[in-house]
Amino acid sequence: MYPRLEINIKKLRENTKIVSDICHKNNIDVAMVTKVYCAIKDVVRELAKEDINYIADSRIENLKNLKDISLPKILIRIPMLSEVEDVIQYSNISFNSELKTVLELNEAAKRRNIIHKVVVMVDLGDLREGYFDENELLNSIDEILKLSNIKLIGLATNLTCYGAIIPSQENLGRLVNIARNIEQKHNINLEFISGGNSSSLFLLNSDKMPKGITNLRLGEAIALGKETAYGKDIEGANRDGFKLVCEIVEIKEKPSIPIGEIGVDAFGNKPVYEDRGIRKRAIVAIGKQDINIDSISSIDEHIDILGASSDHMILDVTDSINRYDVGDKVQFLLSYGGLMSAATSKYVYKEIIY
Ligand SMILES: *Cc1c(COP(=O)(O)O)cnc(C)c1O
Repeated sequence: MYPRLEINIKKLRENTKIVSDICHKNNIDVAMVTKVYCAIKDVVRELAKEDINYIADSRIENLKNLKDISLPKILIRIPMLSEVEDVIQYSNISFNSELKTVLELNEAAKRRNIIHKVVVMVDLGDLREGYFDENELLNSIDEILKLSNIKLIGLATNLTCYGAIIPSQENLGRLVNIARNIEQKHNINLEFISGGNSSSLFLLNSDKMPKGITNLRLGEAIALGKETAYGKDIEGANRDGFKLVCEIVEIKEKPSIPIGEIGVDAFGNKPVYEDRGIRKRAIVAIGKQDINIDSISSIDEHIDILGASSDHMILDVTDSINRYDVGDKVQFLLSYGGLMSAATSKYVYKEIIY
C-alpha cells in the first residue's frame, strides 16, 4: 500500500545505541522521545530494547498506548488541567510550569493513592515553556514541596524550539546552579536535571556539557540521526531509518509555465514559475493533506519537487537517469516536519521492517 512510511528497526536501533552510548559515557540518562512518529507501539517496543532510561512523549494518549512497555514514562508537555487524571495514571513523571496544575495533579494522585513525580521547567531564554522569573520559580517550589502526593525530582529546560536558542555552558550551567541552590535551601536531592533535547548533544562531543546535567530528551537524534543545534548528521547514525515511498500515477511532458492568466493556487498563494521549457513531470499520489512537502527530499538527487496540492505531488524527473513509468515508486528522505506529518496522516501506510 502506498504512500507508505518505511520504518527500518535495525537502523533506528543503531541510532538509539549511538546516542545512548554517548550519553551514558558522560553519565547522562536518555529519555527517548517518541512523539515525532506518534509513538507507534511496535517501533517503541523495539527501540526500548536498547539501553535507554525513560520513554517521553508530549501526548498523554501516546503514553497510555505504551502502558505495557515497562520503562518509566515522562509527559514532556505541560499537562492540561483537563487531563490530570490520565497524567497520574499513564505517566510516572510530568514536566510542569504552573503551580495550579501541580496542585490538581496532587489531588488526582491522592485519589489514586500514588506519588507522582514532577519536574519543574525553567525557561533559559528560548521562550517556550517554563519559569522565566527565578523568584516565581522558587516560590512555586516552596509550595510544591509541601504537597503530600507529589515528589519533586528535578528541573528541566527546553531550548532550540521556539526561540532557536543554542544550548551552552552558560545557560545550562545556570540550570545546574539553580538546582544546587534549591537543594541547599530545602536540604533535598534533585537527581533529574534535564539539559534539553537533540540540540544539546553537540555539547557532549565538545566536552562542554556542564557537570550536573543528568538527563537529555532525544527525539530527532534517534529518529533522523541528526543533532539539531547546527543540523549536522550524527557520526555513524542513519538518516534513512524512516523513508517515504510514493507511487507514480501520471508521467507526461509538459511546459514549465502554466498556460493562461495566473490567479492564486489551491492554497491562496500567487505562484511564480521559471521557464525551463518542456519537462518530464511525474505525479505521485501524496499531497499536502499527508505531508509537509518542504520537509522532504528525493533520494534520487536528480528529481526536483515542483509542488503539491492536497493530494497530488508534482516532480520534475527530466534529469534522472531512471526511466520512470506509471506505477514506479519514488523514495524520499524526511526531515522533522516531513516525518511528523507522514506519521500523523492516516493516509500514509506504516510499514515496519524488522
Ligand atoms: C519534542 C521535545 C523533545 C525532543 O526534541 P528533539 O529535538 O526531537 O530531540 C524534548 N523535550 C521536549 C519538552 C519536547 O517537547
